[in-house]
Amino acid sequence: MARLRRGGYTLLHDSSDTSAKVVVINTCGFITEAKEESVNTILEFAEAKRRGDIEKLFVFGCLAERYKDDLRREIGEVDDFFGVNSFDDILTAIGVPRSAQATPTGERMLTTAGHYAYLKISEGCSWRCSYCAIPLIRGRHASVPAEELVEEARLLAGKGVKELMVVAQDTTYYGVDLYGERRLAALLSALSEVNGLEWIRLHYAYPTHFPDNVMDVLRDNGKLCKYLDVPFQHVSDTVLRNMRRGVNRRQTYELIDKLRSRVPGIALRTTLLVGHPGEDEAAFAELMDFVREVKFERLGVFTYSEEEGTYGARKFADTLGQEEKQRRADAVMKLQADISAALNHEKVGKTFKVMLDRRENAYYVGRTEFDSPEVDGEALITSGKPLSVGQFYDVKITSANEFDLYGEVCDA
Ligand code: SF4
Repeated sequence: MARLRRGGYTLLHDSSDTSAKVVVINTCGFITEAKEESVNTILEFAEAKRRGDIEKLFVFGCLAERYKDDLRREIGEVDDFFGVNSFDDILTAIGVPRSAQATPTGERMLTTAGHYAYLKISEGCSWRCSYCAIPLIRGRHASVPAEELVEEARLLAGKGVKELMVVAQDTTYYGVDLYGERRLAALLSALSEVNGLEWIRLHYAYPTHFPDNVMDVLRDNGKLCKYLDVPFQHVSDTVLRNMRRGVNRRQTYELIDKLRSRVPGIALRTTLLVGHPGEDEAAFAELMDFVREVKFERLGVFTYSEEEGTYGARKFADTLGQEEKQRRADAVMKLQADISAALNHEKVGKTFKVMLDRRENAYYVGRTEFDSPEVDGEALITSGKPLSVGQFYDVKITSANEFDLYGEVCDA
């Protein structure tokens, strides 16, 4: 997007804005639901092209990478499809000549609120989890050099970004391909030295071989949020083995204990996958006990879907119906709702530093360091005087429910 802007184009991120004449759709090809959403978006804009509302329609990303030929056959309105690494070709197709295609290091056009941004530290994944098509689409893990990431963070901070969400398919593997060793801890420390950044948040930390020194940085570095998104997916030994996660039940519990004792106060977010082949009633009961015992601060659930070309699709029959998978997902989320409500109620009467994201009706809406944008809870704040979005405030929590906190600004 930054390169298009440099090429003289005006970019709109909001697809409800109908003034754009060229539409570029980025797609996801991860699981059935995401694929359906991508296809529906393409069909919506194919219709706009038929009506003559737009002149050109391009599609890229994971879905296009995997199913380019099928999509081309089925949806003739699309001018061209591109894979995941075809940015030069997309620029050319839109009309930026090769000679004018600048590739500035770290320059970005933000589509987030402006005071926070995502920093992708690597691309691809060298694991082969049974259910996951990402390595087939994105290839093996490729870390971005640390100095480029620090430069990107510096440019973002220069634009007013205060909170950085560190993401990748697998953040804990960072550095192995490039430096021959895990270098996430060093990278986080380097990012924390960028002036202007106040919160750095770590997502998608794969649990197998979790580096101990990352725990030390999370504990000792004041800019690192006491927050960790670590996708466990399951706890049953049978299911974890079928999933090829490289970690078992005992190691899972040990890692959680270690994280909580070594980083006091850390909020753990996890994602789980229900309905994977091998998850019989006993394995599912084990998963429910896991959720009940661990009491994750944040939790999300997906249902298994068989993905073409994966080990899971080759090796196992997907016999459990979608209805039963959904029933299991709902049961986990219902249990988590009670846990979440209890944990949120413990915050009532306490004061937290809150980043203000937006104004919504009577409330200012923000987040504590224990909540990531889009996926976690929010703090709904009242104040006697105007507050500024993108600023931090001390907020005293006055009430709570399973999703959100309510509070008032201390110094208003
Ligand atoms: S770690 Fe597993 S689930 Fe995550 S991207 Fe890699 S293969 Fe997929």
